[in-house]
Amino acid sequence: MVLRLFDTLKERTQAFSPPPDAPVRIYVCGPTVYAPSHVGHARNYLLFDGLRRFLESSGHRVRLVENITDFEEKISRRARELGLPWRVLARREERDFLHLMDRIRVRPSEHQPRSSDFVPEMVRLIRWLERRQMAYRRGGSVYLRARAVDGGENFPAAELLSDHSVPDAAGSDLPEADDPLDFALWKPPEPGGPVWSSPWGRGVPGWHIECFVMAQRYLRTPVDLHGGGLDLIFPHHYAENLLSYAVTGRVFSRRFVHGGFVTMGEVKMSKSLGNLVPLSQALEELSPEGLRWYLWTAAPYREKLEYDPRRAQQAQRRFEEVRQRITPLGRAGDGDVPARSLERLLGKVRARIGSELDFGGALEGLTEGAEELAGTGRPGIRRGEAPRARRALLGLSELTGIPWLGPTRAAGKGRASRGS
Ligand SMILES: [Zn+2]
Repeated sequence: MVLRLFDTLKERTQAFSPPPDAPVRIYVCGPTVYAPSHVGHARNYLLFDGLRRFLESSGHRVRLVENITDFEEKISRRARELGLPWRVLARREERDFLHLMDRIRVRPSEHQPRSSDFVPEMVRLIRWLERRQMAYRRGGSVYLRARAVDGGENFPAAELLSDHSVPDAAGSDLPEADDPLDFALWKPPEPGGPVWSSPWGRGVPGWHIECFVMAQRYLRTPVDLHGGGLDLIFPHHYAENLLSYAVTGRVFSRRFVHGGFVTMGEVKMSKSLGNLVPLSQALEELSPEGLRWYLWTAAPYREKLEYDPRRAQQAQRRFEEVRQRITPLGRAGDGDVPARSLERLLGKVRARIGSELDFGGALEGLTEGAEELAGTGRPGIRRGEAPRARRALLGLSELTGIPWLGPTRAAGKGRASRGS
């Protein structure tokens, strides 16, 4: 298997070698569940679904953990607006998220821990850091003293970004911190939000320590791959990485993979900006496969993707054309297409994905391959080669998340959405 990957920590592309005789351990930062999922979420989780499928298709076991951030300022605020307890809102949006991920065939992670289930472990860790003078109290908050953490490397952008950071309760820069690179490990509670007691009074853990604790619990750091959207590099992944150095003396992850945003015009699609296309709405117009095709071909994964419903429809049609050429090859036939040409096509698609996760190139290669096969003598697979052709198409389905043996899912409401 060859996988070349851009690593955001080192800011360069390198070959990734899976650990010998052990599963590849991947930690992906999951959603903050306070509002319905949008197309930007779909793009992010399809990226890691594609990475995981590539590794599994290449014969590696994968242990993927993706958390659910179920308490946070935004959840408390929206729960107050809706007059709901925070937990009711968080569970409802979590169900909605998981249902939509299932609909677009994002494989579920091995564990989906909820942040609120790990607070006692977070409190123990903060006390441990405090005893070692790596954390300090200010008012009702506790901060990690970034410059007290020994050695290690960090995102080149971290220092730069900290100069331009804006106040963010989830982030690094509450007013009492001694240094803009320090970040909150414990904070006073939000009105209407959850609250736990601690040696520092009643409050809530900071966001960054949650992921670190859950990654330690299920995978142990350094994990092999760690990912999320570009906006997580700072402060979130910077902070997790610093915590990992503080506690274990080692980096949080061997590789960091970050995906680009989906924008509307020039602006990032985001729940807080209100300029989003809800995923359920996109799935009224596109099939899950058409959406995957669009999000994978419209822009390389690290670049921003400007959502364009017209181009999405074109991608949907393109997918349908390819499907009409490929799917019949899984049936018994009396044509001229040899099964080994499908096996070659599978190898070609896999190789393109292995080259810096070039999903767009992979699907273009598949389109070209399907056109070539359609022009090969009599249509259909060679007599007696259908089982071998089906195996190749099954492999292609597992690799791409698109069921090439059919049937596919239609656009429209699908199953009734649970929750909201
Ligand atoms: Zn995280």
